[in-house]
Amino acid sequence: MTETIFDKILAHQIPVQIVFEDADVLAFKDIAPQAKVHVLVIPKKKARNLSELQTWAAQDVGLFFQKVAVVAAHLGLEKTGYRTVLNTGSDGGQSVDYIHAHLLGGEPLSGNFS
Ligand code: 5GP
Repeated sequence: MTETIFDKILAHQIPVQIVFEDADVLAFKDIAPQAKVHVLVIPKKKARNLSELQTWAAQDVGLFFQKVAVVAAHLGLEKTGYRTVLNTGSDGGQSVDYIHAHLLGGEPLSGNFS
C-alpha cells in the first residue's frame, strides 16, 4: 500500500496537533479546519477507505467507530453534537488514501461538509 502523509503523521515524522492517542487510533487537528473543531481520527491498523473495511473483521470496524465516538466525547462534543464525515474515493472527495473520520463541531454547522 502506498505511503501517505497520514502514515508519516502516525509515525510522528510530521508534526501535528494530537488531541487523542491510544493503542487503536490517533486523532489530530485538521490543517485546514472547516469548523471551530475539526479533528481527523485514523485507525492505527491501516485501511485505504471505508470500502476497504469490507475486508476487516467486524470487531475491528466496530472498534474504530467506537473510538471515533470516544474522541468526540474526549473533545467535549457530545452535549452539543457534531458531524462525522468519511470521504471515499475521488467522487467522494477523498484526498488522502488512508481512512480518516472527520469530526466537526464546536459550533452549529450548516449545509453539507465538502
Ligand atoms: P479528505 O479530503 O481526504 O477527506 O480529507 C483529508 C484532510 O486531511 C483534509 O481536510 C486536509 O485538510 C487534511 N490534511 C491534509 N494534509 C494534512 C497534514 O499534513 N496535516 C493535517 N493536520 N491535516 C492534513
